[in-house]
Amino acid sequence: MDALPEFQVLHPTTVDEVVAARKEHPHSRMIGGGTDLLVNIRRGIEAPPVLIDTGDLQELKTVEATADSITVGASVRLTELAQHADVQAHYPVIAEAAESIAGPTHRNMGTVGGNICLDTRCIFYNQSEWWRTTNDDCLKTTGSMCHVAPKSDGVCFATFSGDLAPGFLLFDGEIDLIGPDGRRTVALQDFYTGYARQDGSTGDGKNYMAIQPGEMVLRVRGKNTPGLLTAYDKVRIRRSIEYPVAGCAVALKRDGDTLSDLRVAFTGTNPRPVRLDGTEALTGGPLTEETFTALDDLCKDQLMSMKTTFTPGHYRRRVATQMAKRLVQRLFDEGA
Ligand SMILES: Cc1cc2nc3c(=O)[nH]c(=O)nc-3n(C[C@H](O)[C@H](O)[C@H](O)COP(=O)(O)OP(=O)(O)OC[C@H]3O[C@@H](n4cnc5c(N)ncnc54)[C@H](O)[C@@H]3O)c2cc1C
Ligand code: SF4
Repeated sequence: MDALPEFQVLHPTTVDEVVAARKEHPHSRMIGGGTDLLVNIRRGIEAPPVLIDTGDLQELKTVEATADSITVGASVRLTELAQHADVQAHYPVIAEAAESIAGPTHRNMGTVGGNICLDTRCIFYNQSEWWRTTNDDCLKTTGSMCHVAPKSDGVCFATFSGDLAPGFLLFDGEIDLIGPDGRRTVALQDFYTGYARQDGSTGDGKNYMAIQPGEMVLRVRGKNTPGLLTAYDKVRIRRSIEYPVAGCAVALKRDGDTLSDLRVAFTGTNPRPVRLDGTEALTGGPLTEETFTALDDLCKDQLMSMKTTFTPGHYRRRVATQMAKRLVQRLFDEGA
């Protein structure tokens, strides 16, 4: 479908009004800047009858970033986050990630809530309705098989590509939600469920978030650790405007010649943003070739890029790993 279908847009000014509107319109969807949702609607991927705009919710438009913690409202636009002096000073990884999203006009419209809840992507999914139908659809829409992994046994491997989540994962991020049953806070690590390895994880590229029907994201938060140095890097096909081939966020601490803290997170590799498990074992000594070999092993084990983009899966994993190594070396040198 090339033309947009009919829908109604509501513009609540308080969170309570959103909750009431969602109760009244159970098939409604939240809309921030619409830079992803409207594309999906135009492609006939979804057709919500009612969109609830988060743009007039003043209470969700604040950014608080101190040396200790960061809290960002869901309605904050990406440009504001990228240019916020306190975020740049205390959380460069988050400012850099925001600055790397899409192009300037998307960042002027796109919101933090929309980026955190970004739909997963796949070359068999982000296509016109005509294209998808001609190719028998797939598990993420109305089809019965996955074209990326035909033997996937019901698992979708569509990739999470939002740039903000890895940075917040480094700071043990939490997400505040509100819905018909009230407010709740979830660790960002648990908010994303789509690991998709058939190892007992609860979600995949189709069911990749623990958000419940009628819920919305209010804020995303993180806690800092004194002395952490952080940075974000991303490889993309068109540097001016593009989803990540892979994105990498690193935080580390150097005490003298000792690597005393190391955190690494990725986007664009799995059906969820991945914070690497096991990086503590790489700390407590100097940064050596052995550290990088061990980091390589963690990436090989935990990054499972599939052929969901135009670049091969193994290439994306190698790019992601290489970015992580470069960022670790750079930040360690800066900490001298
Ligand atoms: C050409 C192009 C390039 C892009 N490149 C990138 C890129 O490099 N990196 C990247 O991360 N993204 C990229 N994007 C996607 C998008 O622009 C950004 O991710 C943006 O941050 C999405 O925010 P939004 O407010 O526009 O989301 P919307 O499109 O409004 O919403 C996205 C999803 O989030 C849900 N949602 C929105 N707000 C809330 C809320 N408060 N609570 C619950 N659910 C909510 C919506 O229902 C929808 O499912 C690109 C898009 C385009 C068109
Ligand atoms: S990974 Fe498979 S099921 Fe998921 S969107 Fe792609 S083709 Fe469809």
